[in-house]
Amino acid sequence: MQLYQNQELKIYNSLTGKKDVFKPISEGHIGMYVCGPTVYSNVHLGNVRTFMSFDMIFRYFKHLGFKIRYVRNITDAGHLENDADDGEDRIAKKARLEQIEPMEVVQMYTVDFHNTLNAFNFLHPSIEPTATGHIIEQIEIIKTIIDKGLAYQINGSVYFDVLKYNETHNYGKLSGRNIEDLIHNTRALDGQSDKKNPQDFALWKKAEPQHIMRWPSPWSDGFPGWHLECTAMSTKYLGEHFDIHGGGMDLKFPHHECEIAQAEASNGQSPVNVWMHANMLTLNGQKMAKSTGNYILPNDFFTGESKHLSKPFNASVVRFFMLQAHYRSILDFSNDALLASEKGFNKLIEAINDLAKLPVGNTTDFDVKSWNNNCYNAMNDDFNTPILIAELFSAVKFINQVKNGKTSITKEDLTTLSSIINTFVFDVLGLQNIDSCDDGSDKLSDTVEVLIKLRAEARANKDFALSDKIRDELLAVGIQLKDGKDGTSFSTN
Ligand code: AMP
Ligand code: ZN
Repeated sequence: MQLYQNQELKIYNSLTGKKDVFKPISEGHIGMYVCGPTVYSNVHLGNVRTFMSFDMIFRYFKHLGFKIRYVRNITDAGHLENDADDGEDRIAKKARLEQIEPMEVVQMYTVDFHNTLNAFNFLHPSIEPTATGHIIEQIEIIKTIIDKGLAYQINGSVYFDVLKYNETHNYGKLSGRNIEDLIHNTRALDGQSDKKNPQDFALWKKAEPQHIMRWPSPWSDGFPGWHLECTAMSTKYLGEHFDIHGGGMDLKFPHHECEIAQAEASNGQSPVNVWMHANMLTLNGQKMAKSTGNYILPNDFFTGESKHLSKPFNASVVRFFMLQAHYRSILDFSNDALLASEKGFNKLIEAINDLAKLPVGNTTDFDVKSWNNNCYNAMNDDFNTPILIAELFSAVKFINQVKNGKTSITKEDLTTLSSIINTFVFDVLGLQNIDSCDDGSDKLSDTVEVLIKLRAEARANKDFALSDKIRDELLAVGIQLKDGKDGTSFSTN
C-alpha cells in the first residue's frame, strides 16, 4: 500500500487552541481514544455525528498508512444523572424503571449502538473496553492518587482534591476555565455532600443500600467515578502518554479536564498530545439530547416515520449530510438540508457509476494531479470534509462534461481519477454506493441464476447428487427451484 503519512497534517488541538502539525509519538503509529456512549438508551443522531467524525478521522489515518490503535469505550457504570457526583446512575435508573437487570440495559443498548453504527457503515474500533471490565485498574489509579496526596477519602467515598492539585498543576488548561471563576460559580455545598470543596470530583463513590451496581474496594462497596473510567481504559490500552483523545465538545469540561487531572496526578505527565472535540448536532437550534426530548433516532430516517422528516432517507445520505459540515462546526438538522444533501449525494454516486462508461480521448482537459493534491490538502487541513466534498464535485462536473461529449480524458487519467474519487468517497468518507446497496434483490437473483446453471450442468453430467444438493441447500435458505418446460425458475419465501 502506498504511504502518504509524510504529508503535513494539521489538527486543531483544543489544548493549544490552534491547528498544530501532527507528529505521532512513535513514527508511523497512532494511539487514539474516543469517549464512547453511556448505554442507557438508544443513541440519537447527535451521538452518531460525534462518532462519525472520529470514524472519518480513523479512516483517513488508515488511508494515510498509519498503524492506528483506536480505542472507544462503552460506559456501562458510574455515569450519574446530570454528569455530576450525585444522583442516580443512568443505567441503574433505567433498570429500575424497566424492572430489568442493569446488565440487561447495557446489553440492549450496546447492541442498539452497534447496529446503528453498522447501518452508517462505521469501521470497528481496535478495542472497545467496558468500564465495568476495568474496576481493578480504576481502584489502582485511585490508590496512587491518594498516595500522592491529591485525593482524600471520606465516609467510604474518594474525591479528587482540585485545589491541592491546582497548587502544582493547572486545572482548567483544556477548557480555559479559571479556578477562581470555578470557585465563584460552583454551587455551594448543600451540607449533604462529603466533599471538601464543590470543585472536587468523585473518584470512588460509596454505594447507597439501594444502589445495585457496586464493587468491593479498600474504601467501601461502591462504584467508580465516570471520569476515572476513561483514564483507566486509555492508559491501559494506549499508555500514559498517547497521541489523540477525542469526544464531543460537551465532554471538554468537566469530563476531559478531570481526565487530564487524574492522569497528571497519577503518572506525573500530560496524558495526551492532541485533544480533539467534535461539535454538536442541533435540532431547531437546540442541542440534540435525550434529556430534553429534542432528538431524532437513526431508525427514524430509515422508516421516515418522524415529524421531522418528509420521507425515509438512506444512511449514506445522512452520512453525506453530516460530512458536508466540518466536524468542529455546529450543524443544524433540517429536512430541507437533508433533501439537498440527497440530491448532491445522488449526483456524486451517479458520476462515479458513469466512470466505467466514459469515452476516452487523446487529451485531458482537467488537471488530475493538482485536483488530487487539493483533495489531500483539504483533509490535511484539520480533516476539512466540506472542502474535500467541494473538490469531489469539481471532478463530478468534469465527468459530466466528458459524458456529454463536451470535453475529454485519456484512459490513463481516467484510471487515476477513478481510483482517487473512489478512495475518498468510499474509503475515507465511508459512503456507500446506494445502487449496489439497494439492488440486493438483483444481486440475489443473479446469484441464484448462477446456481441454477451449475445445477443444470451437474444434471447434464448425470451428477444427480450435486444437482440435488444445490436444490436442497437453496431450499434450506428459503429459495425454491421450480423446473418447468422453459427451464428452471425460482421463488423466495
Ligand atoms: P453520551 O452517551 O451522552 O455520553 O454521549 C456520547 C457522545 O455523543 C459524547 O461524545 C457526546 O459528546 C456526544 N453527543 C451528545 N449529544 C450530541 C449532539 N447533540 N451532537 C453531537 N454529539 C453529541
Ligand atoms: Zn470519557
